[in-house]
Amino acid sequence: MTAARIAVYPGSFDPVTYAHLDIAVRASRMFDRVIMGVFDRPKKNLLFTTDERMALLRESIAGMPRVEATTYSALTVDFARSLGAVAMVRGLRTVSDFEVEYNMAQLNQTLDAEVEVVVLMASRRYAHISSSAVREIASLGRDPVEFVPPHIVEALRQKFAQRG
Ligand code: ADP
Repeated sequence: MTAARIAVYPGSFDPVTYAHLDIAVRASRMFDRVIMGVFDRPKKNLLFTTDERMALLRESIAGMPRVEATTYSALTVDFARSLGAVAMVRGLRTVSDFEVEYNMAQLNQTLDAEVEVVVLMASRRYAHISSSAVREIASLGRDPVEFVPPHIVEALRQKFAQRG
């Protein structure tokens, strides 16, 4: 029996968008298991807590075979290793994404050359979507229904209602 080929798909997912989900589904056609890793402590101002990002993600992938989610707080290569992953999946939208992802891939390759970085080009339909745009649209009073699933639209509403 050959071992399951596992990929991790790391990110902040603050919140997860249709674009992230598209990348996860496409990756799941290439790997037996795709484990989305919600990074616990990114150097970013987060809107949702780790538990909230995780719960929103879990609900989003409920119908997706071979896609799972977990949180992590280690280096991404160490997280990948601990799960026996052979690859780390990332998505690419723009040239500016490329520079960041290229640099990160080189760093990760230096840290652990055995975890391959697999970069998927954004689907044309979703290339313009970002979590930051979703947060901004919601903060200004519009429901980002084109960008995130309905339960996340609701979570955004509640979050900004709380904040006033
Ligand atoms: P990070 O904090 O690691 O940048 P994000 O949650 O913003 O995490 O994104 C996770 C991954 O998903 C990154 O590789 C990012 O480039 C990719 N991604 C985000 N939005 C899109 C999109 N619209 N199309 C394709 N990939 C995307």
